Amino acid sequence: MMNDLSDTTFLEDMHTPGVYVKRDLNILRGEGAILFDINENAYIDCVGGQGTCNVGHTHPAVMKTMREQMYDLMICPEIFHNHQRAFFSNKLSDAAPGMMTRVYLCNSGTEAAEAALKFARFSTKRTNIIAAMRGFHGRTFGSLSATWNKNYRQPFEPLVPGFSHVAYNNLEKLDSAINDETAAVILEVVQGEGGVHPGTTEYLQGARQLCRERGALLIIDEVQTGFGRTGKLFACEHHELEPDILVLGKSIAAGIPMGAVLLGPRVDDLTPGLHGSTFGGNPLACAVGRTVLQIMETEMLPQRAAEQGAYVLQRIQAIQSPLVREVRGKGLIIGIEIKQKVAPYLAALKDRGVLALPAGMTVIRLLPPLVITPLQIEKVLEALEEVLQ
Ligand SMILES: *Cc1c(COP(=O)(O)O)cnc(C)c1O
Repeated sequence: MMNDLSDTTFLEDMHTPGVYVKRDLNILRGEGAILFDINENAYIDCVGGQGTCNVGHTHPAVMKTMREQMYDLMICPEIFHNHQRAFFSNKLSDAAPGMMTRVYLCNSGTEAAEAALKFARFSTKRTNIIAAMRGFHGRTFGSLSATWNKNYRQPFEPLVPGFSHVAYNNLEKLDSAINDETAAVILEVVQGEGGVHPGTTEYLQGARQLCRERGALLIIDEVQTGFGRTGKLFACEHHELEPDILVLGKSIAAGIPMGAVLLGPRVDDLTPGLHGSTFGGNPLACAVGRTVLQIMETEMLPQRAAEQGAYVLQRIQAIQSPLVREVRGKGLIIGIEIKQKVAPYLAALKDRGVLALPAGMTVIRLLPPLVITPLQIEKVLEALEEVLQ
């Protein structure tokens, strides 16, 4: 019976839109930090659904919530009230850095970034957006305009006017870029897709200060760093950073598509009809989002990410290999920059039962579910040591 499914690899390829680079692996199911392919081979999942399943695959509490909510209600447009949306917005707002009481809900990271950019323009009555080199904020026109990688941008130009990019972790460059036409600066706390580059406290706090002085808003994109990934619930907490707008997605609802934008006091009141989303704030995603925040607390996932991440980072940094240029990370987002293209190394890891991501051409990126066990971590480290030597 399992063998029948191998045909689905070809069937899928027959219908590919052609925009994805696909690996020769057909995944059937997942459990915690483990994925099984159609032949029942097990892999330790350091792709983590591209950072969407910090609580792990098929978490029992998530499944229970989904089962219960499914029977009540799955969709409820924002023209009506719903208690799941109310509870989730309240819990998320409480957990967020600073005083961010207003919550806009949508269905993905790019939608959240898109909304954040629109809200910033509306609130400041200014048009210009400053983003960072190596930054990534999504693939729709607005968020793509804030994204740096020219391979994503160039085929779709002209993009949205008013966007510029300055070097990351360089306060002087940011200082000379922000002026009285700047609506917002959009930054990641740790640049994820751009190669795992953590921002410094001095830089992020400085950005906040400059934005305040010049009437611009600071948008922090925590789509990848949020929900425990870096060792705190939100990476902002490492730097006591209070953004004006916080952009969330990926692990917010354990893999159920969801995004969110939180608004701080410097953002003016938005007006009815200004923006919206049909699926945004649906009760199913909201119910799961609540459960995710609960799991973060009860299983102490941010603390686990901090401890395990520090251990993994130190172990990888200790690997003596002429191949390795630099190892960077914070909590359980880890980047290993090597002196060659990463594709063959990702394949070699897969052969040893470990799935990992690239970040650009030369960085191996690890985004395991935060529930990964110490034993699984040892196996990942063994595979890395073998492959990198
Ligand atoms: C993944 C990502 C996005 C885009 O999220 P999608 O859900 O793929 O649209 C935006 N910002 C950051 C920092 C991301 O890592």
